[in-house]
Amino acid sequence: MAEKKTTGKVTHNITHVESTTNSKEELLAVTRKNATPYRIAAVILWILGLVCEVFAILFFTIKIDWSVLYEEPGYTIAWIAALVLDLIFVVIGSILWKKANHMDPASKKNPTKFWIQNNLGIIIAAIAFIPFIIFALTDKNASKKNKTIAAIAAAVALVIGILFGIDWNPVSQEEMLESAGLDNKVYWTASGTVYHAFVDCGHLHNSTDLFDGSTTAAIENGKTRMCKSCEKRLEKEQQSPTDSKVAEDQPVEVESAQ
Ligand SMILES: [Zn+2]
Repeated sequence: MAEKKTTGKVTHNITHVESTTNSKEELLAVTRKNATPYRIAAVILWILGLVCEVFAILFFTIKIDWSVLYEEPGYTIAWIAALVLDLIFVVIGSILWKKANHMDPASKKNPTKFWIQNNLGIIIAAIAFIPFIIFALTDKNASKKNKTIAAIAAAVALVIGILFGIDWNPVSQEEMLESAGLDNKVYWTASGTVYHAFVDCGHLHNSTDLFDGSTTAAIENGKTRMCKSCEKRLEKEQQSPTDSKVAEDQPVEVESAQ
């Protein structure tokens, strides 16, 4: 079944994949189905993050006094640990959410909705850390030093959360459907998030097992965007008609080695 193809030092086992959908509606149903587990996981992680924030607030304001168990620094350890867990959940949630958006992109027809869906992690990060900062700074029992430490720690977590919440390369449903209509052959890996126009792309050097098929087949398998390197190379090849004209005019050396 699998075809073997050698590029440079690597021999790839390439399995051909046929597209299974016949319309845009069918394709969108498949991408939605692919993304759903990631969306659910992201929402669960975000909720866990917010639960950790509530605990961080309760520990910091000594509504729950963990120092009973651990004597003094217990109280500090408790709220810091809750805040760190909060950040971990929020960041992993945002990564999964962005992955879901790449598998099942939002439509650009509604720019506000498009932005919110692609950057929901920013809003979650704000909800996950700003209330803690407010509670910490307005706490009557905490010392000034502890308030400052708590506010700085949460502000750093907020910035990290926001950076992970931003999607720097969002994909739109329109772009995805446009490329689904193209009839060219592309390559992808099981774990990757993009498809490649060239089998000798540098990003595929470490992958022996590849799949090939139409862009529609790639999208059905969760790869909704072309790899940036392949995109640039493709543009270069298409945008240099002068080069190919020169090449046509010059005598061509035919390589007979096979
Ligand atoms: Zn590539």
